[in-house]
Amino acid sequence: MAKIGINIATGSLQQEEIIVGIDLGTTNSLVAIIHPDTKQPVALKEHNTSSLVPSVIHFDEAGNITVGEEAKKKLISEPQNTIFSAKRLMGKSYNDIKQNASFFSYKVIDDNTESLVKVQVGNKFYSPVDLSSFILKELKQRAEHILKTPVNKAVITVPAYFNDAQRQATRDAGKLAGLDVLRIVNEPTAASLAYGLGLHKEDEKTIAVYDLGGGTFDISILKISNGIFEVLSTNGDTYLGGDDIDNAIVKFWIQQSGINEEDLRANKELTQAIRLKAEEAKIYLSGNNSFEGELNGDKLTITKEQFNTLIQPLVDKTVTCCSNALKDASLKVKDIDVVVMVGGSTRVPLVKESIGHFFGKPVNDTVNPDEVVALGAAIQADILAGNNKDFLLLDITPLSLGIETMGGLMDVLIPRNSKIPNKAARQYTTYKDGQGGMKIAVYQGERDMIKDNRKLAEFNLTGIPGMPAGMPKVEVSFLINADGILVVKAKELRSGVEQSIEVKSQFSLSDEDVEKMLLDSITHAKDDIATRALVEARTEAEQLLETTEKFIQKNAALLSKQELMETAAAMQALQLSITMEDKDLIHTKVEELNDISRPYAERIMDQAVSLAMKGKAI
Ligand code: AMP
Repeated sequence: MAKIGINIATGSLQQEEIIVGIDLGTTNSLVAIIHPDTKQPVALKEHNTSSLVPSVIHFDEAGNITVGEEAKKKLISEPQNTIFSAKRLMGKSYNDIKQNASFFSYKVIDDNTESLVKVQVGNKFYSPVDLSSFILKELKQRAEHILKTPVNKAVITVPAYFNDAQRQATRDAGKLAGLDVLRIVNEPTAASLAYGLGLHKEDEKTIAVYDLGGGTFDISILKISNGIFEVLSTNGDTYLGGDDIDNAIVKFWIQQSGINEEDLRANKELTQAIRLKAEEAKIYLSGNNSFEGELNGDKLTITKEQFNTLIQPLVDKTVTCCSNALKDASLKVKDIDVVVMVGGSTRVPLVKESIGHFFGKPVNDTVNPDEVVALGAAIQADILAGNNKDFLLLDITPLSLGIETMGGLMDVLIPRNSKIPNKAARQYTTYKDGQGGMKIAVYQGERDMIKDNRKLAEFNLTGIPGMPAGMPKVEVSFLINADGILVVKAKELRSGVEQSIEVKSQFSLSDEDVEKMLLDSITHAKDDIATRALVEARTEAEQLLETTEKFIQKNAALLSKQELMETAAAMQALQLSITMEDKDLIHTKVEELNDISRPYAERIMDQAVSLAMKGKAI
């Protein structure tokens, strides 16, 4: 039974707050929830309308913003004021997208190539985050209208290959739209959840998620075990989808009917009309053997056989991507337990047949492929709401996370393959007397030396009160939240001074980068162990030299001339050994210096103790 609270101020009944699942798509977006009665996920829609909201934004002269079906109608007539595919720009610089700049019929600003892109409409500039927030705001309003309750919390899905910058941008867009984004979930993970995969702890499966939408194609290979979804590989084509199928039909009709291509290009309305007819034919052919239509008196026909021949090359392209994804995951076709279909274009029978044939098993296509991702997001939202307590969705860190310590060594706080969310802390201390600050440099990677890893962030903990070296206790803690965003905090425990930083790397690692870093760590493992041992020996030697130096300065009067000379010689020898690449030599010299200083150090300590005892009345 759901709990119902009472708002004391207003006396009204308070339903438990709803968390929605949102699929923020390149072509279409939608919202889903777990139905309070049936406990099944459902996509939200008004009566007699589609649950899909085209991810299109239109700006009129007066600055009014329209999102969805109405905006989509303006794509052809007002291309400069109508923004589509904003998702393709998320977290990207102009440099990243310049190869495909002609794809965008609106103005993408290219003056500062390294910074994040902006779009110009009239005399206003919008970031992809702003644009996505308009779509999310529309989705929020629609959901509130349908559910008749405020919607403030959401789970939003992103492609598995989205990097930190793109995930953060999606989260920011949610915030701008007035949504508290509780979790960013990978689209293939959400799709798997919608098929009930991974909902039981003992589930152990390898899944291929084939996602062919309107404009993009993704294949993701996932492994589920112990409730953890691990992305083994991703592949695809960011410019391949249903639109290309429509274009292939348009071309076919142009050839058949003798429509002049130049005339067609000049007539925007006709172009749009023939494209819509092509889409109609494609959809019709998913359930029928031939299509007959008409446009301006011209007959437009196509049979299923002709259609299949037309699109075979497109389907073959996706099969090649599937094969590459398997190779990247070091898997064979027989290792895939389940194939899940996502995206409207997977309704094309040839697509289903070809993919089923490639993987050697029937594909899972019973859930509406347009809604499957949003439905999975709703399931995740329900889990977060605590309604499914024995199950927690987890991701893992692809690379180790740590900080730089003495001598440029990597000290790992969270090892690679750790579950997310995660928390780790370790104590450090100062190296010099009176040291008032400590640099905290955060790195990602598997190598022993920080110079071989990737720097994520750096900050200074300042204001440590003057204390002898080794006295301050600085606790460095790493917290990775559920979206994989890392917060690093440093706190001096005696004084309470603290500083923290949120690590949002703008340009993140691709799968290939991660793979390369892992391979490097294996190739260099032997060298790394040797280097670490040398650095540790050097650090120990330097610390010994410093403490000895201090001791001598303070107690010179209590030492014999011989002791002083021997100590100076041993210190010199140790200093020299540090400059050489021989850790054993350093250890020997450390021992020699210790052997010389130990007797007088003990003697002086004893003297100090007995002096102190004498002064005390027992
Ligand atoms: P999505 O981006 O997942 O919303 O997919 C939208 C694409 O799916 C568009 O290209 C649609 O034309 C296509 N689509 C929708 N229904 C069908 C269908 N029955 N047969 C073939 N393609 C379809």
